[in-house]
Amino acid sequence: MVFAASSLSKRIRICEEFCTPYRITDGSKFKLKDINPGDTGDLEAEDKPKAKELLSLGVETLAELQERLYADDSWALLMVLQAMDAAGKDGTIKHVMSGVNPQGCQVSSFKVPSAEELDHDYLWRYVQRLPERGRIGIFNRSYYEEVLVVRVHKDVLARAKIPPTLVDTSIWEERYETFRGFEHHLSRNGYVICKFFLHLSKKEQKKRFMARLDTPSKNWKFSTADIKERDYWDDYQHAYEEMIRATAATHAPWFVVPADNKWYSRLVVASALIAALGALDLKFPEIDDAKKAELAAARAALEKE
Ligand code: AMP
Ligand code: MG
Repeated sequence: MVFAASSLSKRIRICEEFCTPYRITDGSKFKLKDINPGDTGDLEAEDKPKAKELLSLGVETLAELQERLYADDSWALLMVLQAMDAAGKDGTIKHVMSGVNPQGCQVSSFKVPSAEELDHDYLWRYVQRLPERGRIGIFNRSYYEEVLVVRVHKDVLARAKIPPTLVDTSIWEERYETFRGFEHHLSRNGYVICKFFLHLSKKEQKKRFMARLDTPSKNWKFSTADIKERDYWDDYQHAYEEMIRATAATHAPWFVVPADNKWYSRLVVASALIAALGALDLKFPEIDDAKKAELAAARAALEKE
């Protein structure tokens, strides 16, 4: 296979090309309906085994790049994962990050905010979980929920304890502005930001919910709350579209990933991460003459034992 036999730089280039159709860096013309959740690019359903093989090669490449990121210790990668229920966020983390050294990676899953979290500004809890330099930080849901679930459900906003005089119709635009500024700040500090929206069709979500009901080993994944959220499908799609339009940027792109086929969506996510890390052109730190002399002395001491 071409990918397997290629040098690291060639693999990075292949990934860059593969993820480009899904990368949004300027949201002004973005329409969610332009991306088909069932899209599988040049691959067909029969290519699924090939796609799995490609993913495992991608995972190896990602591990290689992550080692350089860790050794270099100046950049950090922030991966934001957003999606409707059952779109495959957890599976994406499991499969795409499976080869990465756990020491260099941290996953934060954001749920309904706690009382302590609601006692602070809404960015507080997310800022605390930003990855350290040299690491990949995965946000399984993120500050973007503050313009998604909080926007779709008025009662969630009401519980957020924001002084009522500060809540008006411009609140969502103000939050987009906050995110744009926040991500600019992060990128100027060495954060590479990749934001993913796993774009699932309503039909496929129903199929996956049914599977959770029908398969005993999947029953635990089923939540009646998810069915209730499904009733707000159109509101969520609208909120996602507005959010992507307002917050896509070159330094913080959104990848709108067709998510009806897990084998394909995982390839897109892996390739986007490889392309982003690959663009940093990280090398293992070189050692200076003093360090070389130190290593030679250590070798001599060991040999003398
Ligand atoms: P899950 O990720 O499926 O385990 O579910 C987490 C739940 O937390 C979802 O129902 C989200 O809508 C909810 N959630 C996440 N972030 C927030 C937030 N900032 N405010 C309110 N609910 C949230
Ligand atoms: Mg869920």
